[in-house]
Amino acid sequence: MRPQVLFPLFAEVTTLPGVGPRLARLIAKLAGPRVVDLLWHLPSGIIDRRFTPKIADAPSGTVATITVTVEAHLPAENRRRPYKVRCADDSGFLHLVFFHPRVDYLLRTLPVGATRVVSGRVERFGGEAQMAHPDHIVAPEALSSVRTVEPVYPLTEGLTPKPLARAIKAALDRAPELDEWLDAAFRAAQGWRAWRAALLGAHAPSDLQALDPAHPDRRRLAYDELLANQLALALIRRHQKRRPGRVLSGDGALRRRLTAALPFTLTASQGHALDEIAADLASGGRMLRLLQGDVGSGKTVVALLAMAIALEAGAQAALMAPTEILARQHHAVIAPLAEAAGLRVGLLTGRAKGKAREAVLAALASGEIDIAIGTHALFQTGVVFHDLAIAVIDEQHRFGVHQRLDLGEKGHAVHMLVMTATPIPRSLMLTAYGDMDGSRLTEKPAGRQPITTRVLPIGRLDEVVAAVRRAIDAGAKVYWVCPLVEGSEAVDLAAAVDRHAALRALFGDRVGLVHGRLKGTEKDAVMAAFAGGTVDILVATTVIEVGVDVPAATVMVVEHAERFGLAQLHQLRGRIGRGAAPSTCLLLYAPPLGETARARLEVLRRSDDGFHIAEEDLRLRGAGEVLGTRQSGLPHFCLADLAQHGDLLATARDDVKLLLERDPDLAGDRGQALRTLLYLFERDAAVRFLRSG
Ligand code: ADP
Ligand code: MG
Repeated sequence: MRPQVLFPLFAEVTTLPGVGPRLARLIAKLAGPRVVDLLWHLPSGIIDRRFTPKIADAPSGTVATITVTVEAHLPAENRRRPYKVRCADDSGFLHLVFFHPRVDYLLRTLPVGATRVVSGRVERFGGEAQMAHPDHIVAPEALSSVRTVEPVYPLTEGLTPKPLARAIKAALDRAPELDEWLDAAFRAAQGWRAWRAALLGAHAPSDLQALDPAHPDRRRLAYDELLANQLALALIRRHQKRRPGRVLSGDGALRRRLTAALPFTLTASQGHALDEIAADLASGGRMLRLLQGDVGSGKTVVALLAMAIALEAGAQAALMAPTEILARQHHAVIAPLAEAAGLRVGLLTGRAKGKAREAVLAALASGEIDIAIGTHALFQTGVVFHDLAIAVIDEQHRFGVHQRLDLGEKGHAVHMLVMTATPIPRSLMLTAYGDMDGSRLTEKPAGRQPITTRVLPIGRLDEVVAAVRRAIDAGAKVYWVCPLVEGSEAVDLAAAVDRHAALRALFGDRVGLVHGRLKGTEKDAVMAAFAGGTVDILVATTVIEVGVDVPAATVMVVEHAERFGLAQLHQLRGRIGRGAAPSTCLLLYAPPLGETARARLEVLRRSDDGFHIAEEDLRLRGAGEVLGTRQSGLPHFCLADLAQHGDLLATARDDVKLLLERDPDLAGDRGQALRTLLYLFERDAAVRFLRSG
């Protein structure tokens, strides 16, 4: 149960004074639907209203707070001209300027003869001092309430600064004093204030420095968020580790047979990863290991040999892929190898229906199938394994930390190996997986051809088309990728359909199109035609659809490359360079290209090392963007910015480790406060792994 002290923060924003349904909708879009979401919405700028000159001394372009006397209202001569109110002090005149004003309101707020404090930007036009739409018009007694530094908040369309600032202020009024969850000595050493003071401080910047992520108040808030993240992961991880695992240690016979049947020898890092996996499986604990390796680094074989360990022990294994196409591809690669070694392999995807599905289910339940390959359909209710001992999850470039944990709950002491082709920077890895064990495939299998990457404006499309023609005439296959970016599937699809049509006009039937709206069997047909048959140019809308292995593909064209995440582009590029011939990747962008975008594409042009690219991407763009989309499944931070607060993350991890050694059940005073922290950052799920206290 969430602690009572937090209830006001988890109420809807409509419970705040002055926030009606319309404003609430805009706030929800901007920050979130609850009061707590407003607390995390930190200012991005300031307006300094402390400058209180005479009219004559206010330079053009500056924000000033000026005490004036209202002299006259000067209505507009026509609708296109502004309404003016002439004011003065003993140094000169100031014209307040209003476009489309509510005149009755102006007459009430600015009665002739009254003294008023006005605050806003002063502009001078041909000697006339003006202030258009003052931000504040108050009576002279209220001067001190205006003569401050105002926070400026990021907005969304339709939302104006004042109501948002008022709502945030009301939200801050609800922020309670909370018991300190930080170690006292650590906090003192950092020079940080208590949580509430830091929060109020972050929302009341007195100068530009206060907006810096390195400011103590901001660092404290960031640390709190990272601490909650690391504590939650540590609790979940501990829970997993405490559950005993089944000892799997076969005689190696099957592994020897499979290895002998491979047309290549394992790379050193493949061998090393397998040793680590074998040690996990034999340890008596439950394996939860992340296998990271670039596209093409050879994870599939590692998966197969890891599964073989379970099979040697007489159990079953499962391999789950994120999409139908990838599941089929895994099946196509693994089945011949496994069957040559006398193993039985089954395929189960969402597309299996009726009798065929029944047959697979029966074979899984009876143990006739040794290795089940499929999509998430493998783990739906109704699917029963005879004796599942290891599940390999190929996440490709998707993350589903929560899903994965659920999956672990489902099996019986099932060991898990998670494979990802996204080289995750160490800092992100820590936030997504905690101290999950990891293996990395750092070398490329021998015989890989280099890929030349070029970055070109879309205006040079003719050259690109000419290059494509040369390539396919020489027998190459070409991927042509159109991104999903507009937020409307229909619009995106139209772009790909248009490109397909344009290329078809040039190359005829040699051009195929694959996208998310196609039926499974239609996709298969196009993919098959590309892999083996008549299609030489494959226009594709998404990354996932091209998750296939076609060695003859040596050219990749990516349109609007500037809109992709670097990791995504790197993965796409990994689809070529798999065969005997050298490959070319053409990244097309739509000018003008911003400085960061240019730097990012340059990283990709120069480097082929996924881990290096990922670190650079994090440095250039910040964590939220690194994996291309917010849907990456990586935790999203409101207050912490890993590019800025990366050092705090490691500290939080160590803090948590020590803490759980000293107070494993979070029962002490600090422990209790930390429970509140978990709720504050909505890591409620982790709390259930604690004994109640
Ligand atoms: P990943 O899943 O990591 O993207 P794959 O497992 O699909 O990569 O491997 C890519 C290609 O490399 C496959 O054709 C595979 O047979 C081949 N391969 C894997 N390991 C080696 C190796 N040690 N030496 C040579 N080729 C290898
Ligand atoms: Mg793979």
